[in-house]
Amino acid sequence: MLETFNPTPRILMGPGPSNVSPRVLGALAKPTIGHLDPQFIKLMDEIKQLLQYAFVTKNEFTIALSAPGSAGMEACIVNLIEPNDKVIVCVNGVFGGRLKENIERVGAQAIVIEDTWGDPVSVGKVEHAFAMHKNVKALVFVHAETSTGACSDAKTLCNIAKQNDAITIVDAVTSLGGSELKVDEWGIDAVYSGSQKCLSCVPGLSPVSFSPKAVEILKSRKTKVPSWFLDQSLVMGYWSGEGKRSYHHTAPINSLYALHESLLMLKNEGLEQAWSRHAQLHQRLKSGLAELGIRFLVNDAHQLPQLNSILIPEGVDDAQVRTHLLNKFNLEIGAGLGQLAGKTWRVGLMGATANEQNVALLLTALKEVLV
Ligand SMILES: *Cc1c(COP(=O)(O)O)cnc(C)c1O
Repeated sequence: MLETFNPTPRILMGPGPSNVSPRVLGALAKPTIGHLDPQFIKLMDEIKQLLQYAFVTKNEFTIALSAPGSAGMEACIVNLIEPNDKVIVCVNGVFGGRLKENIERVGAQAIVIEDTWGDPVSVGKVEHAFAMHKNVKALVFVHAETSTGACSDAKTLCNIAKQNDAITIVDAVTSLGGSELKVDEWGIDAVYSGSQKCLSCVPGLSPVSFSPKAVEILKSRKTKVPSWFLDQSLVMGYWSGEGKRSYHHTAPINSLYALHESLLMLKNEGLEQAWSRHAQLHQRLKSGLAELGIRFLVNDAHQLPQLNSILIPEGVDDAQVRTHLLNKFNLEIGAGLGQLAGKTWRVGLMGATANEQNVALLLTALKEVLV
């Protein structure tokens, strides 16, 4: 047995987790207090406000679920979708496929729109689907598809849904804090994210926000939410600011200290500054990779700055290169996922990882490995 566990620090340039700053790690080490302690309740209120800042929303129901991004996904579906509801779901990568799976598991009718992996969700196909199907309850899609590095036009898609009287459920796990996301302005009804991507917090928390309309839909359900733990009508009592907080589950107290700290850091930098930092470093990485003759999976117009899917050059051993980067440079990049396994590498520039030194190191290391 190990006396204690001491991992070698790595530079995390994959699809998440991203590097966690010493300041955020320091917050984790603060004394654990009770989750109904008035000090902790004050912290939860601040987290709500900071998440409203990050999501650019005034939604009262804006919280962090005590579980990873996948639970945020599931929470949105099980709370807002009921058996036999008609839902348009867009699949252009792994995470869109999981949304479809979640929708089918609650017994709803998934109207699936498929796009080639690496392409954004097709606006035309979504318009067509709304024209073909009446009484669609929701449009569901991934804003930043981490499996491919493609960014979809969330603003336009939400607008189409609104014209057709449907709500929108948007996966913003990789977009939050890394590229433009405006929940209220774009009219997103339910959005979920993850702590370990562009927020650069420890994994295991999922920021979620519901519009007043989504809260209304939840409150007027015909059937009970099929998951007790994820039933947000029960969680609301725990996160709501007015006086009595009732016990629902024990919050991951120290992880929430860390989230608070990472959100403070985002606010200090400024949301728009954070977006432009990611964009600038993406451009730098791109020009360096071009010099090495490496190409991107996604067209210029739809590339995510925080997740760069690059094509593995002909004749190069995928796993061998990644192992070498890890062993020699302590640098982790992501493998391709799903149908892109063995075809792409995923280079993340998320949150605290997104800095000049890391981009320079990756370019130097890749050059050495590939030559
Ligand atoms: C990472 C990710 C998830 C899942 O988040 P976990 O924290 O791993 O559960 C969902 N959607 C997208 C787009 C992601 O990138």
